[in-house]
Amino acid sequence: MTFKELNIIEPILKALIQEGYTTPTPIQQEAIPIILDDSDILGCAQTGTGKTAAFSIPILQKLYGNVKQGRNKEIKALVLTPTRELAIQIGESFAAYGKYTSLKHTVVFGGVGQRPQTDALRSGIDILIATPGRLLDLINQGYINLKTIDFFVLDEADRMLDMGFIHDIKRILPLLPKNRQTLFFSATMPQEIAFLANSILSNPKKVAVTPVSSTVDSIDQYIYFAEKKTKTSLLINLLNDKEKESVLVFSRTKHGADKIAKALTQAGIGTEAIHGNKSQNARQNALSKFKSHSTRVLIATDIAARGIDIDQLSHVINYDLPEVPETYVHRIGRTGRAGYGGVALSFCDPEEMPQLKGIQKLLGKQISIVRDHGYETQSSTGAKADNRNYSDNGSRSENRSRSEGRSHSDSRPRTDSRPRTDSRNGSDSRSRTAAVSTEKKEFRGSSSTGDFWRKQKRKTA
Ligand code: AMP
Repeated sequence: MTFKELNIIEPILKALIQEGYTTPTPIQQEAIPIILDDSDILGCAQTGTGKTAAFSIPILQKLYGNVKQGRNKEIKALVLTPTRELAIQIGESFAAYGKYTSLKHTVVFGGVGQRPQTDALRSGIDILIATPGRLLDLINQGYINLKTIDFFVLDEADRMLDMGFIHDIKRILPLLPKNRQTLFFSATMPQEIAFLANSILSNPKKVAVTPVSSTVDSIDQYIYFAEKKTKTSLLINLLNDKEKESVLVFSRTKHGADKIAKALTQAGIGTEAIHGNKSQNARQNALSKFKSHSTRVLIATDIAARGIDIDQLSHVINYDLPEVPETYVHRIGRTGRAGYGGVALSFCDPEEMPQLKGIQKLLGKQISIVRDHGYETQSSTGAKADNRNYSDNGSRSENRSRSEGRSHSDSRPRTDSRPRTDSRNGSDSRSRTAAVSTEKKEFRGSSSTGDFWRKQKRKTA
């Protein structure tokens, strides 16, 4: 299957070639023809599956050659997304895929001055990407009118719910024309989201790609049992391995993120932290330095990291385990994106054992344990013993990387990522996790599955 076979027009094809896209991802193969055929979509897919292109390419195609020019432009497409970072990324995607279409877009989100946004709106745009709060703000001030919308995309609907945006969305919906095409995407389908979808979609076609818990198959995952107080030393030890080229460290709290960043800086490891207390500009700066690989280590909280798309992110480290198992999957999904491999290392202190259990239950498998890393204490050894039944029969030698069994023709990156024993002294003290191959490869994402919808249905029944 190629983009040409999906009947994508020349100006967009040219841009896709420049982006290095050769094959549509499963969600693109499914969703693009449906959207081009004017149907609503109920899409079950998370970031990392190529979802953004799945909706932005057909929107660009349908708007191409069919819009007014200059200040007479009317906003024809609205994409609502929960975070500023995601909004910016979606804007970048429209810019990349639409660079030969002369269609104009802008991105509006809170936390920054509104002047550049209102200037862009005044100059006339075809596509608006927005977070809910700022959108409502600008609507109330009279800068935005949604009456001309033909395409409405609700992105990451479940996340909107988690972040408390559901009321804002309910205020925005009546402002949209009834006669429109609606594209609804959510990684999971809790009951409230299913109700919302039902109320705003008309005869939607359902599109699902592999559910959240199985899209992480290309990521090698490991657990380090450690006491709370030894986690920072363990982290510093792991980060002293320069082969970890690009590392996103998750902290549960903003305060924790700052503390970790301070400790790493003191240890001579260049790092930045992003979280909700940082200004939007500081977050953007830190993110772009990390994306361009001028900062090797970024510490983030979940909200700040949501949907971040970083090329060639080799490692995710969970300094704390998240309370919600799905968050673990979202976090580690920052690596292993678009068919790349990746490594996820998670620290677990004795109090976090219930979270570990929940995560392993969601994954339907046990995460390999790294033994003798040098930072276990008496009580974490106890925790390790409790967890004996979680490990692949308790032996690190069982932790075969999936890549070890691959044939040479397999285009997925090889990840010889088995962490080995550390000792705190001498040159061997570094964890020798091998670097992940970051060569750009043809997309080999998850394949679609109808089972997911059946399972979701059973869950909500
Ligand atoms: P998304 O799920 O939209 O966040 O996309 C995840 C990543 O996949 C982004 O880095 C995209 O640039 C990349 N991507 C999307 N579609 C394709 C494709 N057809 N081929 C290769 N990479 C893609």
